[in-house]
Amino acid sequence: MSRPIIASISRSAFAHNLQQVRQAAPKARLWAVIKANAYGHGLLTAATALASADGFAILTLDDALRLRGAGWQKPVLLLEGVFSAEDYEVCAAHDLTPVIHDERQLRWLDGAQLSRPLAIYVKINTGMNRLGLAPESLTSSLQRLRQMTQVRELTLMTHFALADVDGGTAAQFAVFQRASAGSGLPACLANSAAILSARATHADWVRPGIMLYGSSPFADRTASELGLQAVMTLSSELIAVQSVRAGDTVGYGGRFVAERPMRIGVVACGYADGYPRHAPDGTPILVHGRHTRLIGRVSMDMLTVDLEHIPEAAPGSPVELWGSQVPVDAVAASAGTISYELLAALAPRVARRST
Ligand SMILES: *Cc1c(COP(=O)(O)O)cnc(C)c1O
Repeated sequence: MSRPIIASISRSAFAHNLQQVRQAAPKARLWAVIKANAYGHGLLTAATALASADGFAILTLDDALRLRGAGWQKPVLLLEGVFSAEDYEVCAAHDLTPVIHDERQLRWLDGAQLSRPLAIYVKINTGMNRLGLAPESLTSSLQRLRQMTQVRELTLMTHFALADVDGGTAAQFAVFQRASAGSGLPACLANSAAILSARATHADWVRPGIMLYGSSPFADRTASELGLQAVMTLSSELIAVQSVRAGDTVGYGGRFVAERPMRIGVVACGYADGYPRHAPDGTPILVHGRHTRLIGRVSMDMLTVDLEHIPEAAPGSPVELWGSQVPVDAVAASAGTISYELLAALAPRVARRST
């Protein structure tokens, strides 16, 4: 028998969330962002479930080739562009759409001999100060790109640093509009938070990530309030039950001290599975269909839970770490992080099962 931990991936939740994006941004085309192994859900599982998207946005040529190998013929966007000059020919051979975010990538493209011209996304740094050409240099960069025989079509893009805050896109959006005015080019700006809260930024293409997986991009609005459904349910089982006395401690460092006699469940899930080691006592978890709390420090392969009010729980009882009943956002908030990190860090050793 295999270890009972498993990540179930719901195709119907993927379809539902994709529909929510379409409803929120009805006029825009949609890049489904499936970088980082589709936020931990499995690249090809996500690609299959999201096949009605207009394109897939990813990071690496490896992932692009896996998508092409699986028969995906629609656009593929490389969010950070190429990492070496030779990569442009791979882009041409497989009709991939690279981002250009700096002068080095521009020069590589200018010097490339390609089997066919490329669609290019030109990224503008509107204030996040991570990737992107300076707005002042856009006009001259576009002039160069328009003269290159390596280029078939151009789209402008930027990325928001503050889309999860009320009005947080306004300053960057203004910079984008000023820089792109008169270019006549299509635009792609909005991530999940901007799709849901900043209609003005939707433009021609949107780039949803987290909302497709059924998690909220906002700290103050839950996924269910946004009409999103959890795609991943991470579940496992109790593999042992302990009875402790008042004053006994549980786990490494003796972090949890029992105030009275109680029953403790041991779950087959630890930080080597991707569960956050820094999750404190009180982090929500579901055992035998009942809501309870994590207690004691998370170990590499196990964690411990309070069974005080779940007398029916026994070895073999089902546990939901996060998913349809325990929002991954709630676990993340308790552990002082965001759902993106928990989902993307789900360990390869955890089997994914598409349901
Ligand atoms: C990851 C990413 C997205 C998706 O962001 P979400 O917050 O998950 O919707 C969009 N655009 C870029 C450039 C990204 O890197």
